[in-house]
Amino acid sequence: MLLAGTSTALSTESLSFNPIKLVLLCGWVYLCFYFVQRVQYSLLVPNKHKTIAKIAALFVGPVLFFVLLIVDIGHQISTERHRSVLEIIKQRLQNAFASRSPLGLIRPGEQSTIKLLDSSGTELKQIYGHGRSRRDDRHILDLTERIIWDALQEQASDILIDPKDNSAYTIRFRVDGVLRAVEQLDAGKCQAVINSIKAVSNMDIAERRRPQDGAFVAQTADGTASFRVASAGVVNGEKLSVRVLSQKAGMYTLNNIGFSDKQQSIIKDAITKPSGMILMCGPTGSGKTTSLYAMLNEIDLYTRNVITVEDPIECVLPNASQIEVNPKADITFAKSLRSILRQDPDVISVGEIRDEETAEIALRASQTGHLVFATIHSYSNESALVRLLDLGVTAVLISSGLDLVISQRLLRRLCTDCSQPAQLTQSQIDDFRRKKIDYKHLFRAGGCERCHETGYRGRTAIFDMLVVDNELKASIVSSDSWITELRKEGDEQGKSNLRKQGLKMVLSGVTSLEELKRVVG
Ligand SMILES: [Zn+2]
Repeated sequence: MLLAGTSTALSTESLSFNPIKLVLLCGWVYLCFYFVQRVQYSLLVPNKHKTIAKIAALFVGPVLFFVLLIVDIGHQISTERHRSVLEIIKQRLQNAFASRSPLGLIRPGEQSTIKLLDSSGTELKQIYGHGRSRRDDRHILDLTERIIWDALQEQASDILIDPKDNSAYTIRFRVDGVLRAVEQLDAGKCQAVINSIKAVSNMDIAERRRPQDGAFVAQTADGTASFRVASAGVVNGEKLSVRVLSQKAGMYTLNNIGFSDKQQSIIKDAITKPSGMILMCGPTGSGKTTSLYAMLNEIDLYTRNVITVEDPIECVLPNASQIEVNPKADITFAKSLRSILRQDPDVISVGEIRDEETAEIALRASQTGHLVFATIHSYSNESALVRLLDLGVTAVLISSGLDLVISQRLLRRLCTDCSQPAQLTQSQIDDFRRKKIDYKHLFRAGGCERCHETGYRGRTAIFDMLVVDNELKASIVSSDSWITELRKEGDEQGKSNLRKQGLKMVLSGVTSLEELKRVVG
């Protein structure tokens, strides 16, 4: 009896089953595999070391994760001396375990919240994926969806994918008007991502040299976003540019776009008139289209027949008819304008004036009972007038058709988490003193996790307005010397007005002197 009891006790001990140990072991193995996969996306591991890092992750799993985290924190401490070590560690750990980690990890389940569809509504998963293995295809589709998802989260306006050399591609996002490298992929994988984007954009995957263009949409829980895609063959491979069309442009009003009270009342005066023309000017990416939408949003779209001609349609305006130009199908701005004038419009919006014909039709329409909005590519109000003259429009037509010219620029806002007191040079201080400007509260860009080390987050607009009143109309028509003067001095005058507006933003701490110089010069 006693003997039997001892033997039972012995065998129980030697074959002891401890569920906690098993769970811990399984957990460890799972984490090892999980981190192998995560190393793949890590921005901290250079491409050439990915294989070694993956093997290391397979054996040491979470240990590698913490090593990378420590390396990353160390790197940040060395670049951001103004922040305390504890602050940086706290923020990095929060990021690692909450949303986006410093290792470029993504939250599980995020990818399932985005769907890429072609113009007919077919999902990317059904279009692409007849390759060697289903597993590889799924990985590429996930990667493509993640890149598009990240671009939307970062509010990027463009995604640029181009070859760095013959073994690697760089993916860059344009955020707040500035390009930033976000990822590097090896050539084979990136070509597959390019192919999947081309497939969903209804482009020919086999054609890698000739320039092509296409479009697709992405559906997320927040709504739908549209993308315009252009590809071209370059040295070492293929370049892809993806334009993100801002659905938010349609949500802006005069109130929230950055116009001062005085500027708002000038615009309201102009847009409540039954006819006339408002011309927005600025270089590419200066936000003219968004301002155009903001003005259109002020118009009662129910009682007035509003027709727009755009290239491309950036967002849908309820109760307005929108036409997209398509030079390949011979639908140009001028042709579309002619046809819409037969549809009895009250308000016409012209995406961009690029030629004499469009300029003439638009200006004539503004004289014959239509309210016309248009944009033109120019650096100031004064040079917009010169540009119209150069296109071949007569001074008489400009003076009788035009009511208001607005130039615009976008300045990046300083990141409120990391902005620093500005360091001014003696000559800058002397200059401020001479102009009796209080320069004590100026800031410059810092750099932190939240602003991706750029020091800026979001943008604000500055405007310069030129009201074409009777006096100005008379000068345009009668004074040749005035036009000569305009050609000589106009551009500098316009820029100096914009600089004054921008300086107000600098003095109130919204942006920095460096940013103002970058944008306005
Ligand atoms: Zn910051």
